[in-house]
Amino acid sequence: MSVRDLLRASGRVDLARIDTGSTPGTDKAAAKKQLPKDAGALEAWQERLTAENARSILLVLQGMDTSGKDGTITHVVGAINPQGAQIADFKQPTREELSHDFLWRITKQLPAAGKIGVFNRSHYEDVLVVRVHNLVDESVWSARYAEINEFEADLAHHGTTIVKVFLHISKKEQAERLIARLDDPTKRWKFDEQDLVERGSWNDYREAYEDAIEKCPGWFVVPADHKWYRNWAVARILIETLEEMRPEFPQPDLDIKGLKKRIAETA
Ligand code: AMP
Ligand code: MG
Repeated sequence: MSVRDLLRASGRVDLARIDTGSTPGTDKAAAKKQLPKDAGALEAWQERLTAENARSILLVLQGMDTSGKDGTITHVVGAINPQGAQIADFKQPTREELSHDFLWRITKQLPAAGKIGVFNRSHYEDVLVVRVHNLVDESVWSARYAEINEFEADLAHHGTTIVKVFLHISKKEQAERLIARLDDPTKRWKFDEQDLVERGSWNDYREAYEDAIEKCPGWFVVPADHKWYRNWAVARILIETLEEMRPEFPQPDLDIKGLKKRIAETA
């Protein structure tokens, strides 16, 4: 079975019942062995995508603080040619961004043809943090699921394959990672007291995620307590997506003999 089939969410998901420490489809030894091969495959496919220069992928990474969004970008996206990736992260909106529709800032960061776009957080924040903290009226955020579906359908129609990944960690794992951030002088800068506020709303976030995953279909729920599994699974999902898209190297109809002759003539 493909990793996409193993991890694809369908209908109503109960996140509490998905084991964040599970490793569907592999084990540590097999994944470690496969990773270099996968990195090569991903790079090769990405080169074809660039050469084809017609379609794109948008990888959307969502998850609670410390779930590994940054780490996934370092390890998985880091495996491809940096020129082929287009990475954007979405923080608290600026005043200017807030003065526009919530999709305004998103649209500006969409991947160009031939690119793998990566969103570290995304338009989904507008039905997650915004909903959990009542930053807008319920009538506003609840209308956004349909708006997001319309937006994503439009993207798909124009050649962007959207890959939405929820990095699923346990509350206990988050505590350990937050403590590790405090303990490690090279990670301390990442500690944000706001993360503790968000942690206090863990169950509200879980519900908000479950709703987003149900109402805006096309998500993969990746158990992410194990970093090696998270990296392996996201790489596999991207490879399987590219295998299905099958981008091809263009074969321009060139007069090779004639062109070589002209090159020789200009020596
Ligand atoms: P980080 O990902 O750790 O850099 O933190 C970014 C912060 O920005 C997170 O706490 C997000 O919840 C927050 N954020 C991202 N998008 C929005 C949004 N549309 N509205 C409010 N907060 C947001
Ligand atoms: Mg943070």
